[in-house]
Amino acid sequence: MNICVVGTGYVGLVTGAVFADLGNDVICVDNNAAKIADLSAGTMPIYEPGLEEMVTRNLADGRLAFTTDLVAAVRRSVIVFITVGTPPKADGQTDLSAVEDVARGIAKAMDRYTVVVNKSTAPVGTGEFVREIIERSQPQPVPFDVVSNPEFLREGSAIEDTLRPDRIVIGAPTQQVAMSLLELYAPLERPMIITDVPSAEMIKYASNAFLSTKISFINAIANICELAGADVTQVMKGMGMDARIGSAFLSAGLGFGGSCFPKDTDSLVHTAAALGYDFGLLQQVVEINRERAGHFVEMIAKALSPLDGRVVAMLGLAFKPNTDDMREAKSIEVIDRLLDLGASVRAYDPVAMPNARKTLPASVTYCESPYEAATGADAVALVTEWNEFKFLNLERLRRVMRRPVVFDGRNLWEPERMRRLGYEYHSIGRRPVLLL
Ligand code: NAD
Repeated sequence: MNICVVGTGYVGLVTGAVFADLGNDVICVDNNAAKIADLSAGTMPIYEPGLEEMVTRNLADGRLAFTTDLVAAVRRSVIVFITVGTPPKADGQTDLSAVEDVARGIAKAMDRYTVVVNKSTAPVGTGEFVREIIERSQPQPVPFDVVSNPEFLREGSAIEDTLRPDRIVIGAPTQQVAMSLLELYAPLERPMIITDVPSAEMIKYASNAFLSTKISFINAIANICELAGADVTQVMKGMGMDARIGSAFLSAGLGFGGSCFPKDTDSLVHTAAALGYDFGLLQQVVEINRERAGHFVEMIAKALSPLDGRVVAMLGLAFKPNTDDMREAKSIEVIDRLLDLGASVRAYDPVAMPNARKTLPASVTYCESPYEAATGADAVALVTEWNEFKFLNLERLRRVMRRPVVFDGRNLWEPERMRRLGYEYHSIGRRPVLLL
């Protein structure tokens, strides 16, 4: 099948590569000419396990191509995916300007029946909005349909998630339109839900809002555990074993960041309000999440008091492990607050440092290893739970530090082990290990 994917970010690039790998002819479009030139030369703009290999193979086999020419790409395609960004506006509302631009461009290019599929996360009603824009922008009437096919991939496992999604949601105006998408996804042999466009749009927001709620819920429980002397990791384990609850997204820590959960929760609160419903529950989820970085820095400030002149080694900068994405990463707020309080920061992340340099204040020192970051530090603060940190040589780490103090924002290490190794150890929702 001839497919066009507009927007070659995390979602578009991975979607394009996977569809090509399934044997389709895919052309990926972006208005960022430098990105398209890099991709055409096989250089990836993002870090994602397995992506480079898949893109290179399909480029070489001629099933995948990159272009800035939207018109030519639309004209050769039966299905056109919109996968551009839908960032938040200052008030939390979703900025649909890129979706709108692309819809207009598709309308002008279309010269025969085309299925336009919105894969960008966009509020309920966007399918209808896209349909109206295309109708109004066509130079002459050409038949088309608009489908909503929300994306659930996770950065860090995007290829795997796209090949083996839990479900594929197709919101289409008729069964017949849904069939073209069914055919495209059939080789994956995964469960599919065929529904109407608004319901598909809501499935995406409701899913992200629910997962965010689980995270904020357990973080609120962690706050109570800290006050009560209980251990949130035991509470999580006990709750997670209940099949009705499940252990996924039930880890206490610094809360959720990244390019999706923060903006999607804000957006749903906004959409609900616009429709006349006060979603107070989700507002609280957002509020609890906002307090996480401040709570962590307060813990550091209290233990190291005064922070002025202290050196903190920051392990992990990306918003989560296995990605170089710094969007809404908790490290940004933690570092800003530490610097404001007079501390200096030596940072290490396995892959996100190039992006971090563009995002974080210039005074941050970047190091080649966790040990280099910890050298001479008054404390180590773990912000992203990369697997490599789990297997650090903690004895070596302690030897290079000025003071053996660790703040574990993700409960990666065990308090008992840290005690045996001679650390003062502070984590989330658990009693601190103090040096006698
Ligand atoms: P991204 O910012 O990584 O990529 C967006 C791409 O669109 C960029 O390459 C940009 O240059 C391009 N673009 C913007 N305007 C354009 C235009 N007018 N014409 C052509 N290209 C244009 O975004 P992303 O992370 O891939 O997210 C895309 C959408 O998918 C968003 O709605 C997001 O919420 C959703 N989503 C993201 C994830 C994720 O993990 N990143 C997961 C599920 C859903």
